Amino acid sequence: MVRPPGPCGWAIHSRPPLGSRSRALRSSGAPRGGILLTFDDRHVRSWAQCRPLFDRFGVRATFFICEPDLLDAEERRLVCALAADGHTIGAHGLRHLDAPRVIADEGADGYLAREIAPCLDALAGLGLTARTFAYPNSRRDAASDAALTTVFDRLRSGIPRTDDATTAARHVVPAARIDSTRVLIGRGIDTARGGVTHPDDPDVGVLLQVAADAPGYVTLYAHDIAATSAAHHVRPERLRFLLELGSHLGLPFLGFDDLPPPLPPPGDHWLLTTEFGSQKPMITGRGRDRGEP
Ligand SMILES: [Zn+2]
Repeated sequence: MVRPPGPCGWAIHSRPPLGSRSRALRSSGAPRGGILLTFDDRHVRSWAQCRPLFDRFGVRATFFICEPDLLDAEERRLVCALAADGHTIGAHGLRHLDAPRVIADEGADGYLAREIAPCLDALAGLGLTARTFAYPNSRRDAASDAALTTVFDRLRSGIPRTDDATTAARHVVPAARIDSTRVLIGRGIDTARGGVTHPDDPDVGVLLQVAADAPGYVTLYAHDIAATSAAHHVRPERLRFLLELGSHLGLPFLGFDDLPPPLPPPGDHWLLTTEFGSQKPMITGRGRDRGEP
């Protein structure tokens, strides 16, 4: 085995490779769906504190990291530890810029050169290859999907919290369609930002039940994991409740790298998707300062 570059080194590559689960899924017959639990931004210390909780429930999550060049030495070590645990490390942009805006100003090549390539380089410096990307502020359009799917296997965007389970359920991807779905729409599960508590979201339970029954894949997103935080955060007890519920329903918690690779060649059919609901490009009206990822 050749030691990969970067400080993650053997810690990751001496363990079963990411993606081994996808082979298991593919070879195990009918797709069974699951929960794609994701966390955004750069709350590495908080995330790492939950490693025992993730272990207890057999969770493989996805951590979408922005500003990877600004991680301190301890954060870099912890990112490697999360990857070594089998979690997926994805990209969230070098400076958390809105993709449609930068592409409109600088073109797709300019955006990829400014925001994506250096982000991937910084992660590669840790020995990590990011195959997935989460849109900052959930802002995307057809041009950004087209540009970013030339680089990444899959993209994640998001919808605001909603108490309408029917709306949220439109974004459950039928298990049989996961191979051809490149853009997954997450549902926010943060409980608060700073001192502002978000409304209760009992409909998340309905959403997980929909995924269990379909079966299908439901994508959830949060940010910090803490009792209190100036950032968007999910409280540990809420996270634990969702892990217990998902486990009770028999839904595996999978990282994006655990999914089967998307089917080539890419074509219009793999871009999400009016087929699961009334999805429209999300390019206006929401932002980092307005309660979104
Ligand atoms: Zn973000």
